[in-house]
Formats: sequence, structure tokens, C-alpha cells
Amino acid sequence: MSIWDDDQPGRYTRAVICLRGHMATPDSESNPEAARGKFCSECGSALIIACPECGASIRGHYVPPGATGVGGSFPRAPNFCAECGKPFPWTIEKLTAAKDLADELDEVNADDRAKLKVAIDEVAAGGPRAEVGAARIKRILGKTGTAVGKAFWQIAVEVGSEAAKKILLGG
Ligand SMILES: [Zn+2]
Ligand SMILES: [Zn+2]
Repeated sequence: MSIWDDDQPGRYTRAVICLRGHMATPDSESNPEAARGKFCSECGSALIIACPECGASIRGHYVPPGATGVGGSFPRAPNFCAECGKPFPWTIEKLTAAKDLADELDEVNADDRAKLKVAIDEVAAGGPRAEVGAARIKRILGKTGTAVGKAFWQIAVEVGSEAAKKILLGG
């Protein structure tokens, strides 16, 4: 029986992530050592294993039906809780930082600054709007070469989906 005949849904491993979004391990079961840690080895922030809003596990790797596990590189920390839809602490921090940066973009007019703030939310939320948001960020920030503009752009790349990232990084 192939996995395609199997109507069992796949599952997700339980990730351990710090409040700033560094992944200690995508799979707390296969890496109990990392799961026992209390603080992030990269930044010292507290590690969490569940959504602070609803207590649901944080998704790590997707394990397809029939598979016993997956390896490979760490997935990116998810932006939102799959259970309650609330942004995770690291997402809130990044989006807030990006909006603060947008306010400091003196070379961009007020209208475009407001558009950047909407666009960064769209990029983080994913879906087709994320690509629209990414294209808008690229167009507006393309006129600037400042450190503030680059910092904003960097956050957009961090929170963006693969499709959005491709637009941001594309030539
Ligand atoms: Zn960290
Ligand atoms: Zn939640």
C-alpha cells in the first residue's frame, strides 16, 4: 500500500523554539536533550514547546502518513499557531520591529510607509497576498539603499513564505 492509499493524516513533530524564533529542535521526541533546555543557546531567551495563547504544540517537521520520522534541515519557525491562529511571540516581535523601522524611513513618503506596514503583515500571513505584499515592499524599498530599509527588507525575508522570499530576493 502506497502512502497515497492511506487516509491516515500525517502528523507534525513537536518543535522547541525560543521566544525570538530560534529553533532548538524541530522534534522534541527524537531530541529530548534539546527539549529539556530552558533557554536558547543562540540568544538566551526562554524556550517554549507550546503556543502561549492556546497551549497547542508548535509544529516542527511534517511527518507523512506511514513514515516513522523525517530528518533534514530544520524547518523555519512557523509565524502563526495552526490551532488558534494567533501570531507566535517571535512573529509579533518581528512585525513590530518592521513597523517601527517603516516609521523611520525618512526617504519614503508617508503613503508608502503606511503601505509597507500593511505589506509586512501580508507577507507574514502567506497566501497570494504575501506575493502582492512582497512585490510592494520590493518596489518601495527599491528606491532606498539605507540601513533602515535593508533591515525592514531582511525581516520581510525572514517572515515570508518561499514564494514571497523569491520575489524579495529576485533580481
Ligand atoms: Zn533564541
Ligand atoms: Zn495557539
